[in-house]
Amino acid sequence: VTAHRSEPGWRILVVEDEPAIAESIAARLRSEGHLVDTVADGLTAVAVARRDQPDLIVLDVMLPGIDGLEVCRQVQAHRQVPVLMLTARDDETDMLVGLGVGADDYLTKPFSMRELTARVRALLRRVQRYSGGGSLSMLPGGVELDRDARRVRRDQEDIHLTATEFDLLAYLADHQGSVLSREQLLSQVWGWAQGTGTRTVDSHVKALRRKLGADFIRTVHGVGYALESPR
Ligand code: CA
Repeated sequence: VTAHRSEPGWRILVVEDEPAIAESIAARLRSEGHLVDTVADGLTAVAVARRDQPDLIVLDVMLPGIDGLEVCRQVQAHRQVPVLMLTARDDETDMLVGLGVGADDYLTKPFSMRELTARVRALLRRVQRYSGGGSLSMLPGGVELDRDARRVRRDQEDIHLTATEFDLLAYLADHQGSVLSREQLLSQVWGWAQGTGTRTVDSHVKALRRKLGADFIRTVHGVGYALESPR
């Protein structure tokens, strides 16, 4: 992601096999000034994401070929990119959040174009806020956080984080030693005004612990989370 580009004018890939939905999403995002490509199946989505390096992907879960979960895994393994996942039902969203597939936000169909635009804006704001904003931080356990490169390393090894996992870690690092509530993390990292979706925070903390060590982030019961030195 280019550091100093200003919104609008981002490259967005829309992956949706229903032509009417794909077209209305693309039309709306183009009217916001973005450069939008649409693809209708999973394999093409992975190939186009690698070739074009979009700044954000709007990704339907149910697709011909490989499904949205697999597309998300393959794309995120290659490069961090924010993913807004489109689901058919609320319980499908709950299931995906539980699985920790690496999507950054979810929208359940049917949704309004106003809602879609709001989510896309929030995701793009986060990309801007965290790109080019600082330098290298040393975190507990020899973990090295590079904000410019949006990269995390330990012992010279890259640790692959999703865009949201990176943003969450960077925010925790900025407030090292402080206890942060789920609501605070949701509003500051995700850009969500309301305190709904705190399970999303839990699932991303779980993913960071899996990648960085179980003790890396401390749970403060009844309050929230804090980044501290592993015991
Ligand atoms: Ca579909």
